[in-house]
Amino acid sequence: YQAKRTRSPVTAYEPESDTADRAGLTVAGMLPRAVAEKEFTLEFQPIVNLIDGKPIGAEALARWQHPDRGSVDPRSFLDPIEKSGLLTAFTDAVLDQALDAAKQWKEAGFNWPVAVNISPRSLLDRRLPLLVSARLSDHGLTGADLMLEITEAQTLSQLDIVDKVLAELRELGCALALDDFGTGFSSISVLPRVPMIQEIKIDRSFVNEMEHTPKAAAVVRGTVELARGLELLVVAEGVERESQRRMLWELGCTAGQGHLFAKPMPLSKIMRLPATLAEPLHDPGSVVQMPT
Ligand code: C2E
Ligand code: MG
Ligand code: MG
Ligand code: MG
Repeated sequence: YQAKRTRSPVTAYEPESDTADRAGLTVAGMLPRAVAEKEFTLEFQPIVNLIDGKPIGAEALARWQHPDRGSVDPRSFLDPIEKSGLLTAFTDAVLDQALDAAKQWKEAGFNWPVAVNISPRSLLDRRLPLLVSARLSDHGLTGADLMLEITEAQTLSQLDIVDKVLAELRELGCALALDDFGTGFSSISVLPRVPMIQEIKIDRSFVNEMEHTPKAAAVVRGTVELARGLELLVVAEGVERESQRRMLWELGCTAGQGHLFAKPMPLSKIMRLPATLAEPLHDPGSVVQMPT
């Protein structure tokens, strides 16, 4: 019984009630080796056309197989990575794996870009475009094969260096998506100042609440209208139910991502993805019921 409860000698010596801080410290202590030893892997989540359920792209999501803790959530290692000076090495490893995947599915006949999350702090790094360009040519790919998901719209508007980095990434042909839209400060007001953006991703908190909360529904509707006005693609995150898919479609959103269609999966699995991940939407013309 003792052996069953104690998964490894290392965890056995840790206090029972591990605080968040302590967990953070443990993660930070393990990071240099994890980056050096390339313990990070990527999973890929399809992005689909809401009307027919067909994949149109996939987002790369970092996973860390911690020797003692098992799979560690990106939310708990991204912050320490940003603070530790390991961000460039991490971003490089992520780009390398993501482009490797993009290359493989391109050769298999899927015409999808790979979406890679870029930490806001990386946008302050003048060498980022050079890194992206080097990794693209390593894999024989072009900027059109890569979508970069960025956040923190507020810093985007304030820093010249960020503008310069974004402009250079655009010159490489990479598309830029504004991730978690609606959660940052002044995301809407900053958009007209970011003419480089091609896509908005509606944060899953709004998708989750829109059927029952008028304000969440208003944010989704407003975002879709804004995207339309600016001629941007809009992708809804965290679509878990058929009713959400239908409501999003009726609000004018054309693309989505979420457990309804597929969870993040290893490359081997995404290479065997069916041609469609949901039944086509029937009667797509009906009028949406906004919550009251
Ligand atoms: P994100 O870019 O907004 O990614 C979407 C997150 O929503 C992912 O969480 C995904 O697994 C989750 N998700 C997708 N569909 C559903 C759904 O239907 N329901 C629910 N409840 N969740 C869903 P994940 O993989 O834990 O990643 C969390 C965040 O970590 C990402 O949010 C992104 O900001 C960041 N991240 C992940 N990989 C990387 C990376 O390689 N580099 C950087 N800089 N950030 C990353
Ligand atoms: Mg993302
Ligand atoms: Mg997001
Ligand atoms: Mg999100």
